[in-house]
Amino acid sequence: MPYLVRENLFIGNISDSAEVLQNGSSEITHILSILSSPSISFFSEWRSGLTIPAKEIKKVYVGESEETASDVELGAASKSSLLPNKLLYSLEHAGKDLKLVRMAVPIRDMESENLLDYLDICLDFIDQSRKEGSVLVHCFAGVSRSAAIITAYLMRTEQLSQEDAIESLKQSCEFVCPNDGFLDQLKMFEEMGFKVNHESSIYKRFRLKVLGDSYNRGEKIDSSKFGADPGMATGVSSDASSNGESKLTTAYRCKKCRRLVALQENVVDHVPGEGETSFTWNKRKSGNPFNKSDEPECSSIFLEPLRWMTAVEEGALEGKLSCAHCEARLGYFNWSGIQCSCGSWITPAFQLHKSRVDISSV
Ligand SMILES: [Zn+2]
Ligand SMILES: [Zn+2]
Repeated sequence: MPYLVRENLFIGNISDSAEVLQNGSSEITHILSILSSPSISFFSEWRSGLTIPAKEIKKVYVGESEETASDVELGAASKSSLLPNKLLYSLEHAGKDLKLVRMAVPIRDMESENLLDYLDICLDFIDQSRKEGSVLVHCFAGVSRSAAIITAYLMRTEQLSQEDAIESLKQSCEFVCPNDGFLDQLKMFEEMGFKVNHESSIYKRFRLKVLGDSYNRGEKIDSSKFGADPGMATGVSSDASSNGESKLTTAYRCKKCRRLVALQENVVDHVPGEGETSFTWNKRKSGNPFNKSDEPECSSIFLEPLRWMTAVEEGALEGKLSCAHCEARLGYFNWSGIQCSCGSWITPAFQLHKSRVDISSV
């Protein structure tokens, strides 16, 4: 039986969901399925003989959700750590008499799985469903994935810390236990103020870590996962002025030929002087994660991988980063990390030597 978490909000496992889909429910009107496959056929694979009718409403792929549609030309699609063309979610009428609305998101229960990039759509769906009826959030076992999503939902709607939200969820369903990777991401969600802010250092470091994990799994890293090349953009200030206020940004240019190689938004900040722990989100020493002040003791800046870094695409563990225009050496990349002069390890690292670039405000 599904467990009631809040008014009009239930948590359950696949068998709870199958029961509702097969026989209908006097209460539940919406289902949020968090399974490795979003297809309704997952249910018949799980239990042979079970066939659930479904009629597609829409499928939305990464980079084309309504929220980001207007930002597409500014490269918002590439700002997700998910691959473009990957399914974000599917929406369908499903179950007995097609009376239920089911949203399905493809998330596996693995520590390395990217939960953050699905949070906004899942939480918005829960919000909307609770206004129209009652929603069952389920995964396979009802322990990790669905619990992580509901924890995030309680965090956002009730402004609870990750710990307090889980504690509160355990009052309804004592065995919930999101995996450690999800717990880390929920902590980041808290530190970003209960929203997934693609501009924050926290998110940028997360995106880099996701990319590093995928390299370590032996996946081919192609430039579709890289940030846009600021040297190829037409208007440097277009991004900064997109929210109506034009603010100064920092530009990094090749010292030899002056080609633009990076903007402040491409920089992945680190806390000077911290060792391996610099990427342990909850142990950060400095108070303000959005602080972008230059730290004088750092001889390098670290970037997200950008499309001009063609050497990275060749798959080597490490190599030189050269200017795309004059081929001057600007820095190094290393998937196992590089130590900054301040002592911090950045992993993976895409590094520019400050001595090789001109830094200016634009
Ligand atoms: Zn440093
Ligand atoms: Zn150059």
